[in-house]
Amino acid sequence: MPKMADNRTHLILENYIGGKFVPCARHIDSYDPSTGEVYCRVPDSDTEEVEAAVKAAQEAFPDWSSRSPAERGKVLHKLADLIDAHLEEFAQAESKDQGKAITFARTVDIPRSAYNFRFFASSILHHTTDCSQMDHLGCMSYTVRSPVGVAGLISPWNLPLYLLTWKIAPAIAAGNTVVAKPSEMTSVTAWMMHAPGVVNIVFGTGPRAGDALVSHPDVPLISFTGSTATARVITEHSAPYCKRLSLELGGKNPALVFQDADLDECIATTVRSSFSNQGEICLCTSRIFVERSIYPEFLKRFVEAARQWKTGVPTDNGSYNGALISKEHLEKVRGYVKLAQAEGGQVHCGEGVDALDLPERYRGFFMLPTVISDVADASRCMQEEIFGPVTCVVPFDGEDEAVRRANGVRYGLSATVWSRDVGRVHRVARGLQAGLVWTNCWLIRDLNLPFGGVKDSGIGREGARDSYHFFTEVKTIAVKH
Ligand code: NAD
Repeated sequence: MPKMADNRTHLILENYIGGKFVPCARHIDSYDPSTGEVYCRVPDSDTEEVEAAVKAAQEAFPDWSSRSPAERGKVLHKLADLIDAHLEEFAQAESKDQGKAITFARTVDIPRSAYNFRFFASSILHHTTDCSQMDHLGCMSYTVRSPVGVAGLISPWNLPLYLLTWKIAPAIAAGNTVVAKPSEMTSVTAWMMHAPGVVNIVFGTGPRAGDALVSHPDVPLISFTGSTATARVITEHSAPYCKRLSLELGGKNPALVFQDADLDECIATTVRSSFSNQGEICLCTSRIFVERSIYPEFLKRFVEAARQWKTGVPTDNGSYNGALISKEHLEKVRGYVKLAQAEGGQVHCGEGVDALDLPERYRGFFMLPTVISDVADASRCMQEEIFGPVTCVVPFDGEDEAVRRANGVRYGLSATVWSRDVGRVHRVARGLQAGLVWTNCWLIRDLNLPFGGVKDSGIGREGARDSYHFFTEVKTIAVKH
């Protein structure tokens, strides 16, 4: 693992190409969101650096792809061991780089990053291919799967190492080699992860390093997690090469709370689902539809609970939330609250209502959990992804109305349903336009099962079998005997 600099000097990151750190001539600043100060300098890679990384990945492919899944699995386990052994260093770095609370990094980001490697090291051993017999033609057919080649992986800033390893692990487990480009805003933990030579990491911005990867003719596959707007550009720029794309995009996730819900459980979980990681999780709840008979009680109790969701210094063990990723993002999120107010929305807590008390040094991009009511479904706050600690609460009458309004957005990533009526839970879950529906819970994930969105929330699914299919090419062979 590369040496971390002390607090007085900035880290200067280097690309990781062909198993070696390679300096880059140009850099961009990356900030500590809690102080607003420069934390590190990230390579500003472009076509030349991406070209070198693709070449290294191509050279590593014949050896890596010819190894057995079990042999490749051993390398994945080693990576997981390394992350586990340095969990605290990784968690501190992730918290400083992204602004997130250290407790979240320690209990979610970093353990899951290690688990991603362990999970795919094991799951790759259990896939089978298909076989079919056509006796009347004296023929049998079967399928074989092979790695695709050099996989291009592009990830966002909100769960930096977690989402990057969610791509690297299945890609290399299936025998591909990789060129990965993490977000330019959160590159440190990817740089700390001492990956094997089959994983090449180029740092830099989307329009330069990211686009060079997307437009590279020898990268047949792109797995992307990020915004819907960027996905459109990636789709366009990869079209001339007919690349295979997996797109995991934004969300505008509803919670549907029926009058028979267990309100204690529902409120505690919905506060967590709305505000965890500063609301900067694609699966965060941002529209809460509450059955009218319990709406006043829900709103009152939800606002009280939101006020208890402590925003503070990220390194403080007692903070649930830290700072938002950047000044620009904070301004964008605040802009939505102002817009809601201008349209007659009522802000019950958080932004503009409650004061944040932080030590002098922490002049970064903090914002309190904010709850808004009295907004129309058509308003931008109810339609667009805010990706911050803001959620809207509105009443509904009846199951059909709730489902129709929940579906009334461009996105379709996830949803939660709160009811004790088992029939309703199944009906509503079936009716919701979303890739994932949680009922009476949130964020419980079996990695074997598909993850992904519908509508503007994405194309494709990831998970044990889905990732294996995405990262391999299938061939059907017919043999006449
Ligand atoms: P973003 O789209 O701005 O950036 C994501 C990545 O794409 C970064 O590495 C960026 O450098 C790169 N990029 C930007 N422009 C590019 C281009 N033209 N070509 C190639 N690469 C380019 O997204 P973000 O702001 O980093 O992340 C937040 C978004 O990610 C939100 O919309 C959130 O919902 C979404 N997200 C989705 C999931 C999911 O699993 N569905 C998970 C996390 C985040």
